[in-house]
Amino acid sequence: MDLKEIQLNGFKSFADRTTIRFEDGVTCIVGPNGCGKSNVADAVRWVLGEKSAKNLRGSNMQDVIFGGTVDRKPQTSCEVSLVFDNTNHIFPEMPDDEVSMTRRLDRKGDSKYLINGQLSRQRDMVALFHTIGLGKEGYSIIGQGKVDELLSSKPEERRAIFEEATGIS
Ligand code: ATP
Ligand code: MG
Repeated sequence: MDLKEIQLNGFKSFADRTTIRFEDGVTCIVGPNGCGKSNVADAVRWVLGEKSAKNLRGSNMQDVIFGGTVDRKPQTSCEVSLVFDNTNHIFPEMPDDEVSMTRRLDRKGDSKYLINGQLSRQRDMVALFHTIGLGKEGYSIIGQGKVDELLSSKPEERRAIFEEATGIS
């Protein structure tokens, strides 16, 4: 995978600026219940352009901003960046060796998207993700519910899932 790191700042339980580096060979994140594993997946989904608060396990979009604790004030905004290795030019139109995709949100609901720190439109960023086969609606992220669906659905329903995944539906 060409994903080098995820940077989170004020997103859900990541009140402090946190960088998760994916060195060669890292395939999973483990930890006790409630430590924030799914929040990392939510962060990725969010940068990919997720618009539904429900899909991010909240009731409104601002719920992704760190909400505070008894001894810590809530954050006023949040930001998540996905940093990709582009030395193999997975984004052919980007000359840089590293490409970062950032989404920001403040409590007023103002959302911003940045490609390598430059303000851009959400649709341009989503289009760039599509060039490397990533998208919030694809199978780059498979949620816990989706696994259930795969295992328990009827063969015909499962077929529909496979057809969608292979892009022939
Ligand atoms: P499990 O193993 O049970 O699936 P998990 O590691 O996936 O757990 P998450 O669901 O990622 O855990 O994290 C849940 C935690 O994140 C809860 O403690 C919740 O209070 C916290 N959390 C979620 N949103 C926010 C927010 N906006 N501000 C602060 N904390 C938040
Ligand atoms: Mg979880």
